[in-house]
Amino acid sequence: MKYVDEFRDAALARGIAAAIAREAATGRTYHLMEFCGGHTHAVSRYGIPDLLPDNVRMIHGPGCPVCVLPVGRIDDAIAIARQPGVILCTYGDVLRVPGSGRFSLLKAKADGADVRMVLSTMDALRIAEENPNREVVFLAIGFETTTPPTAVAVHAAQAKGLRNFTVFCNHVLTPAAIRGIMDSPEVRELGTLPLDGIVGPAHVSVVIGSRPYEFVAEAYRKPVVIAGFEPLDVLQAILMLIRQANEGRAVVENQFTRAVTPDGNRKAQRLVADTFDVRPSFEWRGLGSLPDSGLRLKEAFSAFDAERRFAVPGRAVPDHKGCECGDILRGVKKPSDCKLFGSVCTPENPMGSCMVSAEGGCAAHYTYGRFRDHRPAVP
Ligand code: SF4
Repeated sequence: MKYVDEFRDAALARGIAAAIAREAATGRTYHLMEFCGGHTHAVSRYGIPDLLPDNVRMIHGPGCPVCVLPVGRIDDAIAIARQPGVILCTYGDVLRVPGSGRFSLLKAKADGADVRMVLSTMDALRIAEENPNREVVFLAIGFETTTPPTAVAVHAAQAKGLRNFTVFCNHVLTPAAIRGIMDSPEVRELGTLPLDGIVGPAHVSVVIGSRPYEFVAEAYRKPVVIAGFEPLDVLQAILMLIRQANEGRAVVENQFTRAVTPDGNRKAQRLVADTFDVRPSFEWRGLGSLPDSGLRLKEAFSAFDAERRFAVPGRAVPDHKGCECGDILRGVKKPSDCKLFGSVCTPENPMGSCMVSAEGGCAAHYTYGRFRDHRPAVP
């Protein structure tokens, strides 16, 4: 397949790995965070750490959309789903994320709530049209990649005059999360999260472009290389980051030039800006409340805002005791540092959000056998 097979070529991968081994200076360690869950999945799936020298360490970031949804917002979604007449629609992985007491939307469904998995926002819209006497709520999650389709659904609902369709909006913003990591005590004060560079997201960057990461290089002096999701993309981005680190440079570079431009998709950006406002703050699992990091519907679309139509508990709830998702999402622990990993907690029986989605650090490690990686924890 064009643009896929070429980026999985084993001989080329070995060549880039050899260049990384050659150029990674002995006597120093390179700590590189892959921000995006898609990269976490790719790193585990293709065994990238096995191709790297011991002094090049990959750190999982918080870019898995399902993982960062806090317990309290899952509880809110369950509370909405349990209200009479409601059909709650959302993407598949979200159904299994544990809320309070490990109760999930899937368990609420087994308990009688009408919770449905959809593949797109337009599926939810169709369900609303087919059920005019029910309230259809779309539980919207995700980064800048999934926000435009939610905006499309809201505009379509308005154009159709649908009064029984609302959105429970949990869309979040990548640059704010990167800033949250950079400002975290682990990076700034404690030194427990050394960072020499960031592998920037692929799909998110298709939408927002490469410019929104410039503050990372300018204000925090950390290099960013935006990368595609194939193994050669990731390896090449690692090599580019090592070169920047060796040369003392900190700029935004774009490895994923076949899809990402400096300005991104302006049409999608306009649509999002016309539909959503930035919340003053939003709670993330692991990262806490981050300023300017989440979206909600604009006043003009308040009729489609589930938070205005339904009462929700709105409580901040701590993670399951013993679950290390918070530390894993902040990059300060590895999945195998969690005592529950692979024993009590598996993809079939997730105790925390990081074991649910294929993009979650724990699920990716478990699925591809990365628990056999016995390197010491960072640093
Ligand atoms: S292994 Fe399970 S319990 Fe442990 S951090 Fe990961 S998701 Fe949480």
